[in-house]
Parts: sequence; structure tokens; C-alpha cells
Amino acid sequence: MKNVNNFQNKTVIVLGLAKSGVAAAKLLIKLGAHVVVNDREDISTDPHALELSELGARVVGNGHPLSLLDDDVFCVVKNPGIPHSIPFLQKAVKKNIPIFTEVELAYLISDAPFIGITGSNGKTTTTTLIFEMLNQGEKQPLIAGNIGTVACEVAQHAREDNVIVTELSSFQLLGITNYRPKIAVLLNIFDAHLDYHGTREEYMKAKGNIFLNQTDEDFAVVNADDSDVSNIAANILANKVPFSTKQIVQDGAYIKDDTVYYRDEKIIEIAQIALPGTHNLENILAAICVAKLLNVDNKAICNVLSTFSSVKHRLQFVDEIEGRRFYNDSKATNILATSKALSAFKKDVILLAGGLDRGNEFDELIPFLQNVKVTVTFGQTAEKIEEACKKAGINLTVRVDNVEQAVKTAFDISSEGDTVLLSPACASWDQYKTFEERGERFIKAVLSLKKEMA
Ligand code: ADP
Repeated sequence: MKNVNNFQNKTVIVLGLAKSGVAAAKLLIKLGAHVVVNDREDISTDPHALELSELGARVVGNGHPLSLLDDDVFCVVKNPGIPHSIPFLQKAVKKNIPIFTEVELAYLISDAPFIGITGSNGKTTTTTLIFEMLNQGEKQPLIAGNIGTVACEVAQHAREDNVIVTELSSFQLLGITNYRPKIAVLLNIFDAHLDYHGTREEYMKAKGNIFLNQTDEDFAVVNADDSDVSNIAANILANKVPFSTKQIVQDGAYIKDDTVYYRDEKIIEIAQIALPGTHNLENILAAICVAKLLNVDNKAICNVLSTFSSVKHRLQFVDEIEGRRFYNDSKATNILATSKALSAFKKDVILLAGGLDRGNEFDELIPFLQNVKVTVTFGQTAEKIEEACKKAGINLTVRVDNVEQAVKTAFDISSEGDTVLLSPACASWDQYKTFEERGERFIKAVLSLKKEMA
């Protein structure tokens, strides 16, 4: 660990007692800081709060008293979900108290370099691909953050010859002060989280913070097909490595004659790639740029690309039953994601969709429904999705109560050769706690149907 003495005897407020807050507080206590843990909720009986209290932290719940900032506070480590607009953080800003997120703390103490991956869509897939390629290439990667272990836990044990691969949300990037990834990846920009960031400009600025502290010794892997990405990266100091599925970018990764190239070097034919979907091709090109920058050999890259077929809940192939192939894309919680999933199949899709009603219509889905034979709907948006299907000329829609029924119904009405795709185009919270729970129940239903049919 480096910078271990920086926090000795300093007062640090950890704001928000989620998983990352607990890990940050523990690390700071270990580093000799006077830690104050503060949460909006009453945390007096929370087992983590009690543990931290026993370790020496001061625990304050039930709101964010401004008086906590009257002490000589060295910094605030806040949960990414807490907006900077709350009075407590406004006051911290006024008093010039640095506000970090947990990943930044991880960066400060880590001996290993970081690779940061951001974008509106594709972060988890690209992060996983990069991890797999570096792993096959024996570069000793560690995965941290959203997927995997909390970053500051991983960073404590990282050595100089490791490389920490982290997926970063715009929330995490918003307040960046020191974080400087050796390689930063910006995949794409779609309108997202405008409720949190206020404007698209603010959202783009947050995403752009991934490059903020980079110098000409670092690298920025950027999507040359996305004009917002190009604008954000226009004046950065890092060496730009572009990727494109549409044009030949000599100094990066691109496609020519159905083959993937990196700087004129042939990497793999598209036909050999296991991961379906054109959107995934973008993620693959980005991952190849990172792997090549870190000198991973082509054999390792190709091994991953020819075998790695999905990330859980993202266009995940589950099983085949009597010639019907079942895919779980429960992570598709919006229209864009479902349209990408639908584009991955040429014909005969039985689409399972529906969920939380956010007040939007589904007309934008219509152009992507051409390959859909039947739609099975459920949840609050069932009727709206049926409307869009009718407009798209789909003759048959069937409404059911849940994903289990949807699996059975889909099987009954499908024929050999069909694809059964759960890609709900909606969040899950009307019926399920998380998209993961919805996906798990889908998988379970498919596997038990398979058993029944055996
Ligand atoms: P994130 O971690 O950014 O949410 P994921 O890798 O989990 O991204 O993918 C979520 C969904 O976003 C996928 O199911 C897919 O529909 C869509 N998606 C993935 N990669 C891309 C991409 N490069 N461009 C557009 N959409 C994508």
C-alpha cells in the first residue's frame, strides 16, 4: 500500500454505510484515521455500524448534521449514489474539504495501476472481457468495483505487478480529484441518469472525468463512432487509441472484411467470436485495445473471444430445449438494451418482455420487432408493449403473470429452431427486487422445464 501515512490521525467522514462505505471505513481505521461514519438512516442497530463502532469509528445516523463538518475534517468519502447537491456536501465544498468516492481512496493507496471503464452501456461486459483477456495473458488482473470485490479491499492487497480493472459509473466519476487510470476506456454516451446529473452536459462532464488526471504517459481507449465520446476526448492529454465498427482507424481496433484488426494486425475473424450482438463487437474492440496496450498475445485474446459467450443476465445463453434456445437478457431494463438484444437474432424470436412502468411508450422498439414471432408480456407495462407489437404487425401476444409462466407459455407456442428471449425493456421493480432476481427465476424456470422434458 502507498500513501498509508496520509490519513494518520486525520478526521475522515464516511458518508453512506453501504458495502463500499463499510470497506472504506475499515481501511481508513487501519490507516490510523479518526473515522466518522454518517448515514441518512438510523444505523444504531446495523451490524456493520456496530462492528465499525467497536473498531473505533464514531457512528452518526438519522441524517447528516452539518456540525460534523465543523471539526477539522481531512476529507469526506461518500457513497456514489449521494448527490453533491445535499446541504452537507455543499457545505463541505464551501469549506474546501475534498470529497472522494471509495474507488478514489482505493486508487490513492494502491501499488497496482488501474484500468477504468465507463460509458452508458457495456461497462460490465467490457470489464469482464478485459479481465478475461489479461488473465489468459498472465497479466495478473484483479477485478474490483461493481463486479467483484469492493475496490479499496482489492487495492490493499494489490502488488505492483497486478493491474486493477474497474467499471466506473458516472456517479463515481462525478467528484474525481486524483484518480488517474493508466488506461481509461469510454465506450459510448446515451442519455442516462439525467434525474441525478440534471443535464446531458453534466452527465458528459462526469464521464469525461475518467481522463481528467491522465497525462501523456497514459492511454484513452475511445469509441470513434460516437460523436459525444469524440467531443469529450477532443482535448485530453492521454494517448488516444480509437476503436470503430464502421471505419478503419489505423491506430486502433477496427473491422475489415469481417475480420477484427488492431493496427494493421489481424486478430480474429468475426465468425469465430462467441459473444453475440453487434453492440458486443464494440465492447470487444475496446477490450482488444486494452489487451494489446498491455502486450497480451493474440493467442490469449482469441482464446477468450472464441469461448466467452456471455455475462450473466446479459444476452446469456441458458439452455436449449427441443430445439428452442433460451436467452436471459434480464439486464435489458430499457428499450435501447432490448433493441440491441433483438438485433442479435435474425428471425423467429419469442420475446418475453414487460416490467416497471416509467410512463414511456414502446414505439421506439417497433423497428426492432421484425424478427419477433410472438411476444409474451407481463408486469405493469404488458399492455403498452402489446400495443407496440400490434403496430409492428405481430399477430400474437400472450399476457402472463410472471417469468415462470412466460417460460412455459413460450415453450408451448414455439417451434423447433426458435429463440426464446427474456429481454424485458423495463426495470424489474414492479415484481422483482432486482434484475438479477428476475433473471435467476427465468434461468430456474428454464432448467426445471428442461428436467420435465427429459
Ligand atoms: P453496463 O454495465 O454499462 O450496464 P452491460 O455490459 O451490463 O452494461 O450491458 C447492459 C446492456 O446494455 C446489455 O444487455 C446490452 O443490451 C446493452 N449494451 C451492452 N454493450 C453495449 C454497447 N456497446 N452499446 C450499446 N448497448 C450495449
